[in-house]
Amino acid sequence: MTAYDNDNIFAKILRGEIPSMRVYEDDDTLAFMDIMPRADGHLLVIPKTPCRNVLDASAAQLEAVIRSVQKLAQASKAAFDADGVTIQQFNEAAGGQEVFHLHFHVLPRHEGLSLRA
Ligand code: ADP
Repeated sequence: MTAYDNDNIFAKILRGEIPSMRVYEDDDTLAFMDIMPRADGHLLVIPKTPCRNVLDASAAQLEAVIRSVQKLAQASKAAFDADGVTIQQFNEAAGGQEVFHLHFHVLPRHEGLSLRA
């Protein structure tokens, strides 16, 4: 397993070194808007402690982050008057991951509307 890189973009967001549009925070997790949204309301949910992805996450990290994902999926579905919500998560480069700090995409969805590229 590749080691966690403390200089990844989301680690910098957690430390406040680069700006983000924060929408939710608790003791264990942070959520902020995706900088290149593929749907209106596209946000990212991350644990505050280091891990690359699901493959090296602890049970406690996964539990905390999925609880926040559920809260934010429910809240963003209501806020954006969406018909559904897509939750996406990628692991390692071959699995489509580009930023190597565990994150879940939460994408409010409307009937008949595709995700943007
Ligand atoms: P993919 O890019 O294939 O979705 P990831 O799951 O690793 O792979 O997603 C990284 C996400 O982080 C992308 O949706 C990208 O738009 C987002 N992103 C990159 N930099 C920032 C940033 N500074 N603030 C918010 N979101 C960011």
